[in-house]
Amino acid sequence: MMTVSEQQNALVEIDERGAIDRVLRLIAIRGKSGEESAVVEFIRSELLQAGVPASAISVDQAHRKSPAGGEVGNLIVSLPGARRGGRRLLMAHLDTVPLCVGSRPVLQGDVIRSSDPTTALGGDDRAGASVVLTAILEILAHKLPHPPLTLFWPVQEEIGLYGARFVSLPKLGNPRMCFNWDGGSAASVCIGATGSFDLEIVVEGIASHAGVHPEGGVSAIAVASLAIADLQRNGWHGLVVKGRRRGTSNIGIIQGGDATNVVTSRVEVHGEVRSHDSKFRRQLADEFRRAFERAVKSVKNDTGQMGRLDFQAELKYESFRLDETSPCVQESVRAIAAAGGRPELRISNGGLDANWLSARGLPTVTLGCGQQDVHTVRERLNVADYLQACRIGVLLAQGG
Ligand SMILES: [Zn+2]
Repeated sequence: MMTVSEQQNALVEIDERGAIDRVLRLIAIRGKSGEESAVVEFIRSELLQAGVPASAISVDQAHRKSPAGGEVGNLIVSLPGARRGGRRLLMAHLDTVPLCVGSRPVLQGDVIRSSDPTTALGGDDRAGASVVLTAILEILAHKLPHPPLTLFWPVQEEIGLYGARFVSLPKLGNPRMCFNWDGGSAASVCIGATGSFDLEIVVEGIASHAGVHPEGGVSAIAVASLAIADLQRNGWHGLVVKGRRRGTSNIGIIQGGDATNVVTSRVEVHGEVRSHDSKFRRQLADEFRRAFERAVKSVKNDTGQMGRLDFQAELKYESFRLDETSPCVQESVRAIAAAGGRPELRISNGGLDANWLSARGLPTVTLGCGQQDVHTVRERLNVADYLQACRIGVLLAQGG
């Protein structure tokens, strides 16, 4: 006897073997951020084979605007509707983190994992890329009716959301609703995410011989340490809770110094601050700036000289929060329920391509596709969730 959820799943039939085979092939392609050409070519050839005209497929120039450079831009497919309705956009990023390079995906029971224990799998986000591809291949194979569709496979998500940040918007064709697949269970509907500033801090001290004339120097290491101690002591480093406002901050990298007998003249400090509240996020960055300014002023050499500070806070991505009644949220909830799932609305504390699309005027929901423990060698893809995401993708591409 079928369970209720199996009966409902059966309402959306997909070629499961084909979908699994597709994700295995996509994961096996090398393509860390900036090196996505081979995966672009793979998807392009699958689309051409399925009868998508070459003229509907394009690659934009986002990589030329990206500070990281890169070999290829975003892959975009624009299809006219086989029935009337607002345009829908389906998307998932193409790149993987470097730890996935060399991944050898194998199906093992309920999961796909890499048979090379030293690599991550790369289900983040080839699983999402495969959901989008599977959705359109199913639609074409069964000649299912659908509204105008845009398929969007951005590059360079993992290194700063650059594909989505620099996509040429007119090429996306003004979609009414956008659906992104990236991480988590197939029932997960992410309707908001935090925003982040990158902090690049350079402390210039004054070098001198540490044994002969230490009093003539200003130690950049001492200055940076005082600033960080100040932030830590006053609750501005790590989880930051001030009244009802919340955020996080982290100094992640410190570089400086090259000898014990020299008073260190330069330290580079890299960090980040995040908050869903953009005013508070700005305040967090300001607290960091002030702590470093105070520290610089507090360390002088024997002639009263101080070090110098170069402090840059750059917006990495803006936070966003979709209304639960917005059409893309409602449609996602409806599709998940129609495929037999129980939708779980959530907010992310990380950045997503959806941050930039939403900031650029395209409200975007992010759905799960079965990835677990991403960016680690334990990464695996839950096959049931992945196949469920494929069914949900078919429903969302078809529209109501
Ligand atoms: Zn991802």
